Amino acid sequence: MKPEKMNIISGLQRIRLKRRVCLAIIFGFLPGCVVLGLLGPIAAMSGALGLFLVGLWVQHRLNRSLCPRCHKLFFVVSFDKNHYRPDGPLSFPPQRNCRHCNLELYKKR
Ligand SMILES: [Zn+2]
Repeated sequence: MKPEKMNIISGLQRIRLKRRVCLAIIFGFLPGCVVLGLLGPIAAMSGALGLFLVGLWVQHRLNRSLCPRCHKLFFVVSFDKNHYRPDGPLSFPPQRNCRHCNLELYKKR
């Protein structure tokens, strides 16, 4: 396999991993808060704050991911006239293609 193709595959794997961690934090936030609430109010508050901050950091890292093929931002996170689509940046978790070169995140190769 060509090195360029290996770089693309490993780059997509990194983006998929960050995406899974981000989605796990989003969907696990409320159940995690309930479990932490059973431990006491201090644990609930500090755990919820910590989980929220980790979630923000992971989402920031995910949004700054570069496409392994075109080396531009994979997820376009700002509106402008060149990238606006009705299902544009606000559709972030369902977005599965690079906004610039249309590289698919989950395509079997
Ligand atoms: Zn791209």
